[in-house]
Amino acid sequence: MTRITRRATLALASLGLASGPAFAQQFPSRTITIIVPFAAGGPTDTVARLVAEATGRDLGRTVVVENVGGAGGTLGAARVAQARPDGYTLLLHHIGMATAPTLYRRLPYDPVGGFETIGLVTEVPMTLVAKKDFPANTLAEAVAVIKREGDRLNYANAGIGAASHLCGLLLQKAVDTSMTTVPFRGTGPAMQELLSGRIDLMCDQTTNTTEQINAGAIKVLAVTTPERVGSLPNVPTSAEAGLPGFEVTVWHGLYAPKGTPPEIQQRLSKALQAALRDPRLVQRFAELGTAPVAQDRATPEAHRRFWQADIAKWRPIIQAAGQYAD
Ligand code: ASP
Repeated sequence: MTRITRRATLALASLGLASGPAFAQQFPSRTITIIVPFAAGGPTDTVARLVAEATGRDLGRTVVVENVGGAGGTLGAARVAQARPDGYTLLLHHIGMATAPTLYRRLPYDPVGGFETIGLVTEVPMTLVAKKDFPANTLAEAVAVIKREGDRLNYANAGIGAASHLCGLLLQKAVDTSMTTVPFRGTGPAMQELLSGRIDLMCDQTTNTTEQINAGAIKVLAVTTPERVGSLPNVPTSAEAGLPGFEVTVWHGLYAPKGTPPEIQQRLSKALQAALRDPRLVQRFAELGTAPVAQDRATPEAHRRFWQADIAKWRPIIQAAGQYAD
């Protein structure tokens, strides 16, 4: 492409008029923004920042993270669904992409059709954690405290549609007792309240809890995965500890607005694949109790299939719990 054509293409791009392979070849020519639909300092934010750094290395451009928290992740998701589909605004979200379509009967965006999938990033175990002086050391003891104290206990979540909300829903159903739910814009800020003792209990990904557990700053009662977690080998699974139906594994995926040109989707997918092999990302994920997914699960097509299957998996569970956001 000549300099003049390139300039013309860039000028058209800035007007939102350029499209097709020529424009895609230039991609990316400026900073990319990944929207995280939760507050800074939480698990989705942590994963997004590692993905931003590693994809940025592959793309040769800066990739920044912008936190748009609120309404269980749906505000940030809406922002991306409504963004210009040019590859410069992406979404790094989690299992909420699969639960929001059932939890919310009305959303300001199409929760499935509004996005192109770039790929699955990681699957992260959840932990049920409590403030340091919570009067229980095991899940069985905690169940007794929950049954006794009920609404006097504060359970934090990141809003309806968040993984922590889903996990709390399953916990309260399994124990058949409700607690007072305190929503935050993400579990980053909620963790600060758990550390200060103003919150009693929370479910959160190991990407946010491992370091606090190992420092003895909070208590861990169970991991909500079918298997124990390598980085927390002494912590029982919820099933082992007596609550078999109480199981959630959180996944994170990368998305672009619907209509993003296929060539740009492919370039982003290649960058994600490179990021998932990046030794710095792999090492940090391991320290936080997780790992990148296998490359064949990180493709746009595989992630779309997985996402659709997860929507179908959670729909009857949420409907049985009878809880809707609206
Ligand atoms: N871990 C949170 C949740 O889904 C969200 C976050 O802040 O990453 O509950």
